[in-house]
Amino acid sequence: MTADLDLARDILRRTFGHPDFRGLQAEVIGEILAGRSAVAVLPTGGGKSMCYQIPALVRPGVGLVVSPLIALMSDQVEALRQSGVPAAKLDSALTLAERDDVWRQLERGEIKLLYLSPEGLMAPHTADRVARLDLALIAVDEAHCVSQWGHDFRPEYRTLGRLAEMFPGVPRLAVTATADARTREDIRRELRLEGAAEFVASFARPELALNAEPKHGAAASRVLQLVKARPRRAGVVYAGSRDSTETLAAKLAAEGIPAKAYHAGLDKQVRHDRLTWFINEDEAVMVATIAFGMGIDKPDVRFVIHADPPSSIEAYWQEVGRAGRDGDPAEGIVLYGASDMAWAMRRIAQRGLPEAVAQVQMRKVRQLYGLLNGVSCRAAAVRRYFGEEGVEPCGQCDRCRNPPIGVDATEGAQKALSAVQRLGGRFGRGRLIDHLLGKTKEVSEFEAHLSTYGIGGEYSAAGWRDLVDQLLFEGLLVEDPNDGRPLIGLGDPATVKAVYRKERQVTLLKEPETPDGAARGGRTRRRRGEPPADMLPHDASTFDRLRSWRREEAARQHVPPYVIFADRTLAEIASRKPGSLDALAQISGVGAVKLDRYGAAVLEVLGEE
Ligand code: ADP
Ligand code: ZN
Repeated sequence: MTADLDLARDILRRTFGHPDFRGLQAEVIGEILAGRSAVAVLPTGGGKSMCYQIPALVRPGVGLVVSPLIALMSDQVEALRQSGVPAAKLDSALTLAERDDVWRQLERGEIKLLYLSPEGLMAPHTADRVARLDLALIAVDEAHCVSQWGHDFRPEYRTLGRLAEMFPGVPRLAVTATADARTREDIRRELRLEGAAEFVASFARPELALNAEPKHGAAASRVLQLVKARPRRAGVVYAGSRDSTETLAAKLAAEGIPAKAYHAGLDKQVRHDRLTWFINEDEAVMVATIAFGMGIDKPDVRFVIHADPPSSIEAYWQEVGRAGRDGDPAEGIVLYGASDMAWAMRRIAQRGLPEAVAQVQMRKVRQLYGLLNGVSCRAAAVRRYFGEEGVEPCGQCDRCRNPPIGVDATEGAQKALSAVQRLGGRFGRGRLIDHLLGKTKEVSEFEAHLSTYGIGGEYSAAGWRDLVDQLLFEGLLVEDPNDGRPLIGLGDPATVKAVYRKERQVTLLKEPETPDGAARGGRTRRRRGEPPADMLPHDASTFDRLRSWRREEAARQHVPPYVIFADRTLAEIASRKPGSLDALAQISGVGAVKLDRYGAAVLEVLGEE
């Protein structure tokens, strides 16, 4: 197998121009090369696509890639072609003649990677025809879409379970950037990957600085302020409604910022044009609903601002994850308020979901607000949420840089933890709070005699809810979904013990009250919003010239600029200034085909100094 892995590394270098595997890539690829299936959870920008693209090039036959969106497929196909890899997609946008052409090439064995939507692949005539091809592997991208416990359930993903019996000998790989333990379980069951090895990478995104701040008054003026503080950068502003995307975009445009709105209510052609504009502009700001999402592979997005909060930590991670995919510094900023949370809860309640599903969704909302309003490192909180252990504070989120002066709630926490312990983890949050307040209806003799019954007079029910949420969030308490009637139990015993012993503090964030929010340290806030100085490449003018060359080249070929070279590659070229093709080939992202195609032009741009 090591010989195969060597070959894989060779392809990584020669075809894609990267010096070595990153993170868990080698492990995942090794598994597929051994002919076994796998589940891989890798962070955005972690190089998930290499995990199936490279094995497809090493193994005989064509690699099938199931992907939820046409935009996503087009980008990947284009990027592969730029690197000289024969790739194609079969989607509803193709004409009959184009489809025939793709099939002919497939049957002649000329295509190494084929992208399809789940419904496209499972359509009877396509499935039959695919079954006659020699398959290298089947990759299911964005695999979390299969889980109704996830945040982006797509029923058509459920049909993909049948791939197991349709293609018994073919290794299958499920990949996603966001899946908590429960979603991972669902992926395994639904896609029949029970025996497959699981690779879960660290969710660390060291290039991403996560910030959140409570809304004070109109979010629009704060958004404007934030965007203005980030000039000449591509960004996404997420807003909760179609109307607010339009008004926000207009407001930004009126200030001279290249901004456009994007939402599902726009005409299809307008959406397409705006998406193309965003992808091709280096400095565009898109103000969008979450309809603008999964297909966006633009690597050089420098900020994601949530004018309204996301719907869950998974959604947050995915949305904010669209910033900094190229690995250069980027920021996420969420504006949130208590009314946003209430609204989110109400919306779930109104959707007529099965009780169990609604409960899960509501828990996800609570956990999100626990993070937003929590005092601890935001990056660490996300990572713990996804099941990572031994996580250190990131050092660059707002909480790390400006630790808030919280209120100590350790005593209350001890009471709550000990109540949960005495109640034996048999009750949910509401019942626990009744217990603490001594208000349990028809209280049993047993419960009324527990030493924790009614010891929580210092807080109101709402106060306890906040504290219990915080404890859940810190993992001191855990919620067992219990089929939609969540039960609260004790979390990690060592940490709980540390709280009992007062070795660990539990802090609640309490915003200092002031009569008018605007006067609240507006200046420090603005300063905090300024981009770090090291965001700019060292040799800005060379970088700019390389970028304009890239823009022209992209326009000529009608492809997005980043499929030609990533910003990071251009930045490295700008700072290292290679004097020859050999030296240029050493730079990450410059593979053999790209060297051949663009090497001379790049050297020429460098020579213009
Ligand atoms: P995602 O996991 O978000 O799908 P991609 O597969 O799009 O990530 O990869 C993100 C970026 O990282 C791409 O520009 C890709 O070329 C780059 N990349 C992938 N693997 C490596 C590697 N081993 N070394 C350096 N860059 C890599
Ligand atoms: Zn942090």
